[in-house]
Amino acid sequence: MSGGPDDLARKVLQPGQCAGCGLCLDLCPYLQVVEEKVVMIHPCGLKEGDCYRVCPRTPTDWEDMDRSVFGAARADHVLGHHREILFARATAPEIAAAGQYGGVVSALIAFALGRGEVRGAVLTAGAPGEMPRPALAENPEEALACAGSKYSAAPSLRALHEAARRGLEPVAVVGRPCQVLAVRKLQRARGLEAHHLAGRKVAWVTGLFCFWALDPAFYAFLRAKTGDARILRVDFSPDSLLVHTDRGLLSEPVDKVRGFVRPACRECFDPTSEFADVAVGSTEYDEAWNTLVVRSERGEALLRAAREAGVIEVKPYPPERLPLLRTAVLNKKLRTLEAQAARGESSHLQLSEGYRRALTGRDQP
Ligand SMILES: Cc1cc2nc3c(=O)[nH]c(=O)nc-3n(C[C@H](O)[C@H](O)[C@H](O)COP(=O)(O)OP(=O)(O)OC[C@H]3O[C@@H](n4cnc5c(N)ncnc54)[C@H](O)[C@@H]3O)c2cc1C
Repeated sequence: MSGGPDDLARKVLQPGQCAGCGLCLDLCPYLQVVEEKVVMIHPCGLKEGDCYRVCPRTPTDWEDMDRSVFGAARADHVLGHHREILFARATAPEIAAAGQYGGVVSALIAFALGRGEVRGAVLTAGAPGEMPRPALAENPEEALACAGSKYSAAPSLRALHEAARRGLEPVAVVGRPCQVLAVRKLQRARGLEAHHLAGRKVAWVTGLFCFWALDPAFYAFLRAKTGDARILRVDFSPDSLLVHTDRGLLSEPVDKVRGFVRPACRECFDPTSEFADVAVGSTEYDEAWNTLVVRSERGEALLRAAREAGVIEVKPYPPERLPLLRTAVLNKKLRTLEAQAARGESSHLQLSEGYRRALTGRDQP
């Protein structure tokens, strides 16, 4: 489905549905970002635009995307395509220590950069508790400097433009699920070669699990709570915000931050990066390990090479935990279907009735 900047403004930006992925920025001088809010500073008047085509919040045929990324329809309507679901962690102590959990993301990126399989990696940099920024890492040390989750919607895909401008290719991308989808839309958009960007220069995409990102006002909230203390790490357990500082651990009920959740995230259908080559999340109970979902052949090949090189170790995903993951993801999808049904024609999700039935077990959400 095609559209232009006016449609983007009307359907995505004005109703607060922008995911803040950052891909449209630098495609057009009229799109700017201020504190993680994308704004259109002038209507360009085009009827069709690349900004609309690559946006993860413009209409997206989910099943078509499955076919174009994985070459087949999905068998698992909750978790998407997956070849394996594992627990995994980085073996190098310095990566495991720097990583948010097991450091799998940083280890894979550092490994790929170190072996010269990619020349750059699109990442997200920033000190814990401060507004993050897009980063383009060119070596393992720079990748490691980006370790750690920053819980707001950094427009990190801007770094993809920087890579293209500098002729740095191929690149790896690490992103939230919305960013993964934006990259996939870019990869299949025809005619974008006119721009300096071309999605085929992306060698592989590592997606994060992400149930929501927070508005940057969260950082002011954090600062008010921590005062002069230096923030060392920010984390979330299912019930709490956990802030590690040089003066000790501060904990707040997670309900205190729910008000900062970005409105667009309340209508996100994909908390586990379904279109990534590999998707990485927490285990929800052992912070030394990650959940690792191997989705594509490319992802499988990357993991195999990383395991053979001794960079990553894995163990089986505990079968008793799988229903917990499935339920959390399904509930998120059902909440989104309800919210999108209320939104009506401006819904970005295009799902067949068969797909909805497979997910919900009934005809309508
Ligand atoms: C906003 C957000 C919400 C999340 N919510 C969940 C959740 O609900 N459940 C869950 O299981 N996991 C969630 N995660 C993922 C989790 O926090 C870890 O990022 C993931 O498990 C990888 O861990 P690691 O130890 O391999 O990461 P590391 O090795 O520390 O690597 C982290 C990577 O994430 C990238 N990154 C950091 N912040 C951002 C950002 N804001 N946007 C894009 N990329 C970023 C960095 O570039 C780095 O490469 C979330 C992450 C983010 C950023």
